[in-house]
Amino acid sequence: MAVSQLSPVDAASSDVSGAPALDHDAIIIGAGMSGMYQLHRLRELGLKVRVFEAGSGVGGTWYWNRYPGARFDSESYSYGYSFSPELLAEWDWSEHFAPQPETLRYLNHVADRFDLRRDMRFHSRVTAAHYDEALRGWAVTLEDGSRHTARFLITAIGPLSAPTLPRIPGIESFTGQSCHTARWPHEPVSFAGKRVAVIGTGATGIQTIQEVAKTAATLTIFQRTPNWCAPLHNRPISKDEMATIRAGYPEMFRRCQETFSCFLHTPDPRGTFEVTEAEREAFLEELYASPGFGIWVGNFRDYLVDREANAVVSDFVARKIRQRVKDPAVAEKLIPTNHGFGTRRVPLETRYYEVYNQPNVRLVDLRETPIEAITPAGILTSAGEQAFDMIIYATGFDAITGSFDRIDIRGLDGVQLKESWAGGPQTFLGVMVEGFPNMAMLMGPHTALGNIPRSIEYNVEWVTGLVRHMRDHGLTRADARPEAVAAWTEHVKSIGAGLLSNEVNSWFTGYNSNVDGKQTRIIARYSGSAPDYRAWCDAVAAKGYPELLLD
Ligand code: NAP
Repeated sequence: MAVSQLSPVDAASSDVSGAPALDHDAIIIGAGMSGMYQLHRLRELGLKVRVFEAGSGVGGTWYWNRYPGARFDSESYSYGYSFSPELLAEWDWSEHFAPQPETLRYLNHVADRFDLRRDMRFHSRVTAAHYDEALRGWAVTLEDGSRHTARFLITAIGPLSAPTLPRIPGIESFTGQSCHTARWPHEPVSFAGKRVAVIGTGATGIQTIQEVAKTAATLTIFQRTPNWCAPLHNRPISKDEMATIRAGYPEMFRRCQETFSCFLHTPDPRGTFEVTEAEREAFLEELYASPGFGIWVGNFRDYLVDREANAVVSDFVARKIRQRVKDPAVAEKLIPTNHGFGTRRVPLETRYYEVYNQPNVRLVDLRETPIEAITPAGILTSAGEQAFDMIIYATGFDAITGSFDRIDIRGLDGVQLKESWAGGPQTFLGVMVEGFPNMAMLMGPHTALGNIPRSIEYNVEWVTGLVRHMRDHGLTRADARPEAVAAWTEHVKSIGAGLLSNEVNSWFTGYNSNVDGKQTRIIARYSGSAPDYRAWCDAVAAKGYPELLLD
């Protein structure tokens, strides 16, 4: 095949080899953080790229999740892009953990600064993507029926972007306002004087609850499983502090590259029982009083694999909950009993537990009184019906593979990705899938997630490197070798062995009670260290991609 198909001049219009011309060199699905950066990098290679985005603007997660209280719970400055010194120099973060509107402003600023929108098409939900052997490329169909072709298909569709509503009878019958948190209206929503229900107490529900409790007439929280939460300790960033942060950017990003999950925090080298009880208590107190994810990812090195160690940390956090919630019966309901601290994503909170001391707030424990139906007036549990003006569904996502399942992605011989992943995803490096040539996934299953923007930048660089290699060598097709997929998938499984989080139902394990076929836990994420992940990927590139069939 002609190299010219990857040159900016000829790509869309002609092919000296006589193969059908393609509309674009690459189609990227999604204009979130990964799609934006991938567009920028591929354009630098001189490629003709089109991004299709379902929403009306850039931002992905930060575009869709406009629910009250949405904010970073990783340090803002460690969550921005690191690739552009100019961008780092000109953007000030106002809080250590920025609220969603600020992050969305930031991403819009990035889109303006790098003139990204000219290659993006909004209101363009991709419904299908089929590999076409004759094209040696992909034909992508949008919701409006239009068809677009490209050599490469790059999915930038996010691990948490397919929202799921609970499967409760009568959900359509409710006559008040209702909304999933990830489909929050763009207009302001007032809770003043309203009887509000929140279903779900994950990281999203907890941020929502804190905010709604401030103004709602009544707030009723429907909790099925309590989660272990820890304080965020957010505060504003002064001008002087921002200057210090900016001066420290090179060192901070270098540290992020070295830590286990690219966070600023990294596991403490000590084992839980290698210190005295007093030292342990003091360390946990220090973590509980510190901002961000330190208590989750900067804790004793063994507490996420050793049950006894985990029980010690969990007991510590349970004591904190009991101290903060006045009603002992309510406190007990808020303490998880079916999983240990840190084995699910730890929601970070600001006075979340104190919300339950407010007279306008009530906790409904669905383990005692399950929801039987949503009614036109409100919610019916086994204890009776309660009327509401508004129901907020903070019920999470069909995570990791869900956004892939919602697109009819077909590879060689019309094989559907959803079908081939029915028993769990099979990938090479979490980026490539055998039988789906020229498709690359950003933040797909089996990649290192951790500090997502750091992982995105790495994923994008790797994919860009592969595309550059193909261009430079006149190659037009890349497919993962089956043995490479088997080896990587096995590697991902083996490093996940022994992790307590893999024994727990949560989005980490691809579990979702609201989606058919997702009640089996899978190994959905790469759980080794980010440096190890990068070492694997770098080695593949350095050797010239022997694990890929390239022609
Ligand atoms: P989630 O963690 O999956 O939580 C969903 C909640 O809804 C759970 O409490 C779940 O209960 C409940 N639920 C689901 N179906 C239900 C049903 N049929 N009946 C009753 N309750 C039901 O989802 P999320 O809170 O949206 O968070 C997902 C992830 O997004 C987080 O873990 C995090 O990675 C990310 N996130 C990040 C931020 C941030 O960075 N600041 C903020 C929010 C979210 P069960 O536990 O019983 O299933």
